[in-house]
Order: sequence, then structure tokens, then C-alpha cells
Amino acid sequence: MTARTHDVAALAAFTVWVLAVPPGKTTVATGLTALLANQLGGIAPDIDQPTAPMWRNLPIGRYFGKIFGALVGGHRFFCHSLIGVAVFGLAAKVLLQFLQPIMPHVDIDFVWGAFLVGVLSHLVMDSLTKEGVPWLLPLPFKFGFPPIRAWRVTTGKWVENIIVLPGLIVLTTWLCATNYLTLADLIQSNLVR
Ligand SMILES: [Zn+2]
Repeated sequence: MTARTHDVAALAAFTVWVLAVPPGKTTVATGLTALLANQLGGIAPDIDQPTAPMWRNLPIGRYFGKIFGALVGGHRFFCHSLIGVAVFGLAAKVLLQFLQPIMPHVDIDFVWGAFLVGVLSHLVMDSLTKEGVPWLLPLPFKFGFPPIRAWRVTTGKWVENIIVLPGLIVLTTWLCATNYLTLADLIQSNLVR
């Protein structure tokens, strides 16, 4: 899937997560940082390709991207598996603990959860594409849904752009609209300074 689809999918997953497991009292800083972490998580697994936004935006990023991609076994390999998720989770935890002193109003556990929700949404979305995802590495099988490969989405083609992406936008909007009071209540009474 393209980065744009992953962004919206991560936001949809974040909305579902917040509705399913409503957070307790938390700060505005936590809410904003969690949204940012969720969006970063949503595209994180694609750092295994040199064209990833992170590499593209660095001066000699493509070069590093190629080396990094080779180290993790190429696109849709290690970074697109459950062990990859565990490593992303560990790295994010260490980074958040390191940053905690300069952001004392941020609940890093909630931010960490939001990041992982983003990463998992990425794997779920890529499972809908023709290539599939090696969820259970080191087992060398790529899983996809639906199981028949021909029925799956081709990245960047019309099914993704005309059905999947607008579908996700409609789903997220619908979730927010139908749960408007719950979400408004969460924002108004749970977010503190
Ligand atoms: Zn991907």
C-alpha cells in the first residue's frame, strides 16, 4: 500500500483502539504525541525500502536506505513480520524512555501503544496486497487476505486509490460520527494540561 493509505489506516486503527480501550485522564501533550507516534508507526515498516519517506528526505538517505534494506533482508521481509514488530516496539520503548525527561507531561506508555497500533495497522493493510506479509518469520511464508492472490490489491493501482483509501476515510469518518459523544467526552473530560 502507499504511504497515504497507511497514514489513514493508522488513524482508523488509532480511533478503534481509543474507542475500545478508552484512556483515563491524560494530558493534551500525550494526545498529540500519541497521534504523531501512531502516524510514524503507520509507515515505519517501509523503512526497509530506499524510497521510504524517511530516507528520501535525508541528504544521502537513499544510500543508507539501500544498506539498511539489505541488512534487514529487503522489502517486505524482517520489518513486515511479528519479530519486526517486537524490535520496533523495543526500539520505540528505549527511545521514549530516553526522551521522557524532556517531555515530563507525556504518558510514554500510551504513546508507545499508539505507535504499535500504527505498526500493526501497516502489516494488516499490506496483507491485503498481492505480495502478502511474512507475519511468522522465520517461517518463510507470506500471508495475505483474501487467500486467493488474484483477489488482492495491487499497491498504488486503482483498487487502492478508488476503493481502499476512500473506504478507509469513510470508515474513520463514520466511526468518529457515530461515536461523536464518546469521543467528545474523552477529549473534554479526559484531556488535561
Ligand atoms: Zn509495507
